[in-house]
Amino acid sequence: MELIQIGSAPFQASRLAYGCWRIAGWEGNPTPEIEASGRRAVATAYDAGYTLFDNADIYGGGHAERVFGQALQEIPGMRDRVVIASKCGIRVKGNPPGENTTRWDFSAAYIVRAAEGILKRIGIETLDILMLHRPDILADPQEIALAFSQLQQAGKVRFFGVSNFRPALLSAVQAACPMPLVVHQVEISLAQTAAFLDGTLDQCLASRLTPMAWSPLGGGLLGDGAVNILPSQKAYHVEPILAELKSLADELGVSPSVLALAWLLKHPSHIQPIVGSTNPARIRDAVAATKLELTRGQWYRLWVAAQGAPLP
Ligand code: NAP
Repeated sequence: MELIQIGSAPFQASRLAYGCWRIAGWEGNPTPEIEASGRRAVATAYDAGYTLFDNADIYGGGHAERVFGQALQEIPGMRDRVVIASKCGIRVKGNPPGENTTRWDFSAAYIVRAAEGILKRIGIETLDILMLHRPDILADPQEIALAFSQLQQAGKVRFFGVSNFRPALLSAVQAACPMPLVVHQVEISLAQTAAFLDGTLDQCLASRLTPMAWSPLGGGLLGDGAVNILPSQKAYHVEPILAELKSLADELGVSPSVLALAWLLKHPSHIQPIVGSTNPARIRDAVAATKLELTRGQWYRLWVAAQGAPLP
């Protein structure tokens, strides 16, 4: 697959990333069958040329990182050829035992401990990219900088990024950190276009950050249908978008999901969509998006459908 530069990091990665959120199922205690299909999804993505794998410590209650780590062990040479990313900072209830509120925690001690947990579950010595998952309202940029510096100096994490941040908070964290942040992971799709207009992608363009798009198909709403989506995605009104997406996809002779991914790839910030399917055929098919070049007119046709109103 075509490669792109990842922020100012000294490496490139595949145009599409693979997301491990769903590889250990949804319930938290995956059966051997679910784990085997999760490993198969990772192996399929690797064979299809994906070289950035996105995780988070809370995916599948930690099981997604463990299943990804098993796949990594099974595939000779994979560790040296891929960029492994994960996220921390969300503490679900029960962490620590007895705590009954889910909360965000960007304290230095917690970030360091969480990163060490990620390394252990995946079974690696060094994580390539650690992101802060969702902005802690009590976040102190100096504490974040302290944690990042400790992890980098100990050789535990090479590069850092954030996820779902407001541009101003990203700037505050960057100002406190001695190292450049390299990625900003946000929800971007035809069903969720806020990042194009709220300064997020402008900041990526200005600051050499790679925007990683989570739920690039709206969790499946822009594909063949969603099974598990986030509560916020249940409110998406995708019918008018789907109608235009299907009509243009027919004209171009591609599937609507390939077109929805290609639409993201056209933005000059080099958005890296994170493919979240666990279905081997869909994981492979998505790669066709990297070969589809949309005209400005085609791009705006879908933009107008996504906005639900003509341009001013
Ligand atoms: P997505 O690609 O928008 O949705 C994938 C879902 O859509 C799967 O359940 C898939 O089912 C279904 N689907 C239906 N039709 C499809 C088609 N034609 N092609 C592909 N998939 C289709 O992405 P996502 O899974 O919601 O998110 C992708 C990644 O983003 C996650 O794995 C995670 O790494 C990351 N993420 C990050 C955050 C954050 O806050 N930073 C939040 C959410 C996700 P099948 O598996 O059956 O194909």
